[in-house]
Amino acid sequence: MIETHLIPYNVAHRYACITGCPLCGKNDGYVNTGARHWVICHEHRIKWLLGENLFEGWQNQTIFQYYDNLQVLATYTDVNPLIARGTRH
Ligand SMILES: [Zn+2]
Repeated sequence: MIETHLIPYNVAHRYACITGCPLCGKNDGYVNTGARHWVICHEHRIKWLLGENLFEGWQNQTIFQYYDNLQVLATYTDVNPLIARGTRH
């Protein structure tokens, strides 16, 4: 199994810009490739680009982790995430 160095969902979920998988509405946190953050759904093997340099920590990623993450992401399909709605009161 490839280690993906996932950020726990409850941490990722603090950021409103992280939305859900269009198939199940969930996400499994994100992985970094360099400064890029990819949110992923393992169940449906999909990914979407959240943005770049939004969170700290990616600078500490080793070159091995970087290529491991690239390998994982290469097997996942790039999709458009659900757009969060109805959170305003
Ligand atoms: Zn899903």
